[in-house]
Amino acid sequence: MNHGKLSTTNIIKVYNRLFIEQCYLCHAPSRKPLCSYCEAGFNRNSFACPLCKRPNQGTLSSICGQCQVSPPLYHNCLAPLRFEGLTQHLIHAIKFQQQAHYIRPLIQVLSETLIEHYDSVDNWPSQIIFVPSHPTRIKERGFCQTQLMVAELYKILLLQLKEKTPKHTNKSPIKKALHTQAQHTLSKKKRSENQQGVYQVTGEIEDHVALFDDVMTSGNTLETCVKLLKKAGAKQIDVWVIARTPEKNQ
Ligand SMILES: [Zn+2]
Ligand SMILES: [Zn+2]
Repeated sequence: MNHGKLSTTNIIKVYNRLFIEQCYLCHAPSRKPLCSYCEAGFNRNSFACPLCKRPNQGTLSSICGQCQVSPPLYHNCLAPLRFEGLTQHLIHAIKFQQQAHYIRPLIQVLSETLIEHYDSVDNWPSQIIFVPSHPTRIKERGFCQTQLMVAELYKILLLQLKEKTPKHTNKSPIKKALHTQAQHTLSKKKRSENQQGVYQVTGEIEDHVALFDDVMTSGNTLETCVKLLKKAGAKQIDVWVIARTPEKNQ
């Protein structure tokens, strides 16, 4: 083995990592975690229901049928991306191939959306709470991806917002029970009760809370957590997700 060559290669690698900022996906020089080319590869959730951010097929942002019948209990929902294409690929790689480094570019996109939104309304939540994964999944994966995502988000927000940054703890006040009966074996009513029994809220809950999850599909999990957080004292809950699943995938 040529040790001289090996050490030079390693030095270049370390140098690149420390001093040259690169795109997380294609390694092209970039001052942001994603170069503009890779960022353009994300499917933005530009046309969606203004309340629940369910993606619309066309180019309208009108209130969806479901929200017209029963509006969500949360105050608003911020979901910059659609769960398809590159976003879906990266989230699957994080969840099923332990590729946690993909968290950074996804959270960068979410943080930009949050900063743009809250800069205009000037009403940041005072606490970020994440929906934890199932304990069995955490054991299999070796980490809870929503916990890592919120930690990354907190770091970015802290740099920008300083003392205005919502507080967060590494342990979510929301706990997921270890054993739950399979949903498909239950009636619709029991399913909803079962879903509520799956989660518990402990600890202090602020008046204005941001509830984070990586992906929102039907919205049932988030609605359940919103109900529990309201019972625990939250007055306004803003839902933050990286991506929302389009109707065809639900
Ligand atoms: Zn790139
Ligand atoms: Zn809606």
